[in-house]
Order: sequence, then C-alpha cells, then structure tokens
Amino acid sequence: MTQTRNVLEQPAGFQRALVGWFRVEARDYPWRRTTDAYAVLVSEMMLQQTTLAMVLERGHYVRWMEAFPDVATLAAAPESRVLAHWEGLGYYNRARHLQQAARAVVERFQGVFPATLPELLGLPGVGRYTAGAVLSFAFDVPAPLVDGNVARVLARLMDHQGEIDSPAGQRQLWQWAEALLPEREVRSYNAALMELGQRICVPGPPSCLLCPVRAWCQATEPAALPRKKPRREVVRVEEDVLVARHGGRLLMQQELGRRRRGLWKLPAVHGRKCGPLLWHGRYTITHHRVTLRLFAAAGRPVPRADESWIPETDLETLPMPSPFRRALNAVLAAHDDNRPNDPA
Ligand code: SF4
Repeated sequence: MTQTRNVLEQPAGFQRALVGWFRVEARDYPWRRTTDAYAVLVSEMMLQQTTLAMVLERGHYVRWMEAFPDVATLAAAPESRVLAHWEGLGYYNRARHLQQAARAVVERFQGVFPATLPELLGLPGVGRYTAGAVLSFAFDVPAPLVDGNVARVLARLMDHQGEIDSPAGQRQLWQWAEALLPEREVRSYNAALMELGQRICVPGPPSCLLCPVRAWCQATEPAALPRKKPRREVVRVEEDVLVARHGGRLLMQQELGRRRRGLWKLPAVHGRKCGPLLWHGRYTITHHRVTLRLFAAAGRPVPRADESWIPETDLETLPMPSPFRRALNAVLAAHDDNRPNDPA
C-alpha cells in the first residue's frame, strides 16, 4: 500500500501535478480565453448560482458580452435592459450587483478594474470568492478561492469530517486554500482546482483512479464527504395569478420585493374574481416549491397601485422571471388560436 503524501508539507509537488493535468485536460471556456477582469467578473457572477450548461450552452454569457461588452456600456445601460438580458438565469440581484459594480469601477477607478483584494471587495456583490477569481484569472495574482467544487476537493484531500458550511469549516477551507496556493501560475492552478471538482472529484462517488492528485489525498470514504449542515425543509407555496387582456394589452404587476425588484409578473388574484384555470406548473426558488396557476380574468380588472396595462408587443423585452415567461408564452400561444379571454 502506498503512503499518502502530506499536501501541506509538499505543496509544490501537488501544485505541479494539478497544473500538469490541467494543461492537458483543461476545458475551453470563453472566459478562459481572456484576461479581461470585466469578462471574468461577468462569468463568475453568472456561474454563482447557475449551472455551467445554462451559462454556456444556452448562450447567456456570449449574449451578455455582445450586449454589454465592457464596464462603461453596462454602467450606462438602463436597469430594465440589464434585467431583461439576465432572464433565464434567476437570482436577479446578481445582475443588479454586476451593474452597480460596473458603475463603481467607472466612477471610482476611471473604468479600469482594480487589482487588489480590498478594492475588489469594495465593489457591490463581490465577495471573497469572486475577488479571488478576478485576481487570479484576470491578473494572475496569488489569491485563494473556495467555491463548492474547491470545498469538496479540499475536504476530501484533508479527510475533513466537520461541516464545511459552518463558520469554522469555512475558515478551515480558506486556510487550506491559502496554504496550498502557488506563487506563480495561479491562474492555471485555481482553474485546475475548480475543474478537478467539476469533472473528477465530483459529488457522490469521485473518479479517484483518474485523479492527478490522489497521491496526496487522505480521504478514506470520499463519497461521504464533504459533510454539510442539514438542509432547510422544502416549503410548498401556491401562487395564483390572473391573465387579463384588453385591447392588445396585458395587465402586469411590477415586483417591489428585494429579490425580484424591477421585474414584471402576472398580477396576483388576491380576492379578485376569476374565470377558468388556463395553465399550471411548478418552479423552485431557494427552498420554496411553488405551484403557479394562471386563471383567466373575469371581466376587466381595475389595476392596483403596482399594476399597469402593458402593450403585448412590449412583452418580449419586458424583464420577467422565467417561470412567468414560460407560463405566459404557453397561455398566449394557445389563446392566440381562439382568443377566448380577450374582451377587447
Ligand atoms: S483522490 Fe478521489 S477523493 Fe481524493 S481528491 Fe482525487 S478524486 Fe477527490
């Protein structure tokens, strides 16, 4: 049986093995072809709570960079256009933060991205992970980063049995990330660590036989790691909304809540009379499982303070959460054939 090497005592060999593997195996992503800090920030913000497949294969990143190719363009854009371009990615605060960060770079740094940790951490929506990603991927500056993939790899390498999402667990992971960081080729090293977690040291049973750093790994039961705090219980919610059309316009409600401010959705039924059920479906947001039901309006509802009649020709560019977009598209497509619900 071969003895495991101590990665903290021999980080150089570990770093070489990891970066060597990455040179051969690295996937080609558009944000890896650039050292533009803005492009790196966009990719990192998008990938925070959205899958790689969504960002990449559905073209969100490429479309965003075409619409807002630099900080100045994003800083000057109307918020409604920014939110509309984020549609499909969810968690819209990320889009707002991205624009606020772009404005801060323009106002505080004359449009030139800062390359120090304190300055980056001062930008809206930029936490320690994102700052580390921008520093290492854009500027090749030694800066640790810990995302979900890196946390899993580190917890297994160290056979860490504590909960990684506790404050103590987080502190420990960041300490290890910092201790293992090379002084050079940080761009490749950090990207390699993340890619190892994406492709080899995956959730569930990892592919240890293919792992370039297995000589340093102390995990005895890697599939059981990392350990996390028990999940919040799923809360079921029902959301009943109206489809009210009149004279080529649709009644819409502007969201005022923190999470979806600036977006538009179908107005809530809330005590109003309604006709037949037109559509129903489910979506999940954080720990809420929502059943969305669309009812035909009975007559022409009087708009409430946060509601407006929006021309249906403007719907395409109106920022809207994607569950509503999907539901509305289905209903409008069906009704455009026989238009039973348009009193106009
Ligand atoms: S040997 Fe297995 S558990 Fe350890 S880092 Fe590699 S893939 Fe992960």
